Amino acid sequence: MAASSATQVQTSGSAGPEPRSEGTSDLADSNDKDPQAGARAPSRLTQAVHAGEERFRSHNSLTVPIVQTSTYTFQDTAHLVEYMEEHMFWEVPEREEYGRYGNPTVRAAEAKLAALDAAEDALVLSSGMAAITTTLFILLSQGDHFIITEDSYRRTRGFCNTFLTRFGVTCTTVAPGDYNALEAAVQPNTKLIFSESPTNPFLRCLDYVRLVEIARCHGLRTIIDTTFATPCNVRPLEYGADLVIHSLTKYLAGHNDLLAGCVTGGFEITTALRQSQSVLGAVLDPHCAYLILRGLKTLGLRMRQHNESGLRIARFLENHPKIRRVWYPGLESHPDHAVAVRTMTGFGGVISFEVEGDGPATGHFIDACRIPRIGPSLGGVESLIEQPALVSYYDTDPEARLNLGISDELVRLSVGIEDTDDLLADFEQALEKV
Ligand code: PLP
Repeated sequence: MAASSATQVQTSGSAGPEPRSEGTSDLADSNDKDPQAGARAPSRLTQAVHAGEERFRSHNSLTVPIVQTSTYTFQDTAHLVEYMEEHMFWEVPEREEYGRYGNPTVRAAEAKLAALDAAEDALVLSSGMAAITTTLFILLSQGDHFIITEDSYRRTRGFCNTFLTRFGVTCTTVAPGDYNALEAAVQPNTKLIFSESPTNPFLRCLDYVRLVEIARCHGLRTIIDTTFATPCNVRPLEYGADLVIHSLTKYLAGHNDLLAGCVTGGFEITTALRQSQSVLGAVLDPHCAYLILRGLKTLGLRMRQHNESGLRIARFLENHPKIRRVWYPGLESHPDHAVAVRTMTGFGGVISFEVEGDGPATGHFIDACRIPRIGPSLGGVESLIEQPALVSYYDTDPEARLNLGISDELVRLSVGIEDTDDLLADFEQALEKV
């Protein structure tokens, strides 16, 4: 595993009058235990806490330090020349050169994310959209065609259907779950398939086996945005997908306090992306990388709570007379329930549902909820609730909106990690007011 195999770094860069000999810095940790090298392969819970952090431990710090610098200095010209000759920034680095080419705190976050997705490497970028746009820019060229599944994040579809067309790249959108349409959409110049799973807002789940089979048959790459699932619930690379994208803004960082994205996959592609990131510039601040590392430590626990609460609340809503319909992959009524059960170990905390009545009645219900706050985004510790018609689709023509299935009564709930019984009681009282 390229990223996570990064070894202990030289912790002194340059300046001291008595240069330290390589790798023997007295700032390095004397405790060289590797918590990942136990008798059995570490689970995702253990990886989330320890993976990627072995590179350096200055001052015996338990946590990865925030290396808040824009540039890195060299002891002397000989060291600079040696670095230029031997250590290009896209290789597993022993030191850095300039902030846009890499940062040790960011690299630690990347190594942890790579371990969680069982990937060779990971690249962290400044937002989920930066991860998506950088990846598509690099993998597609003028004259290429690609396929995207409907019911994806609206900004992603916007980038694919309008932005990329300016560069001569065309895109066909197919319905999720329609594998015949997917295969029929393949053209001689098709290069890749991009899909979310679960999708937003109807939580459609991919049959990775069928998708990868079709892609391999036609020599296409597969890129899967599994922001809604996280590596705790599914690891598409294990099904043969080429790249996985996450908006770290959501579950992975998990605290509704930062924006970031990542791409995980094979070293060759992530290296190409890393090289282009150094030009396109969508890099992450080291402090933000530290918050991601910190958030990831509790990922396993948080996802357990999101999964459990999500399923209980989805069942409660499905059985409530004032709820018309619920979309949640853990429910037998969801169109992709069988696929979700086969491929996922949990279904997350996002539930979409329609309230009986109209848009204003739905607004009354939302306003009556005391725990979930009204707002976009998902995957954080705080529950969030919204009517997609009033947020992501506010500026869409009502007829076009309805064609996408976005009714005024549609609600998207992101279940946080509050006590499930408190949330259930809150929804019960709020529905009484409709
Ligand atoms: N992918 C999915 C599935 C999303 O829902 C979002 C945002 O909501 C993004 C990507 C974009 O992520 P970010 O907001 O971090 O740019």
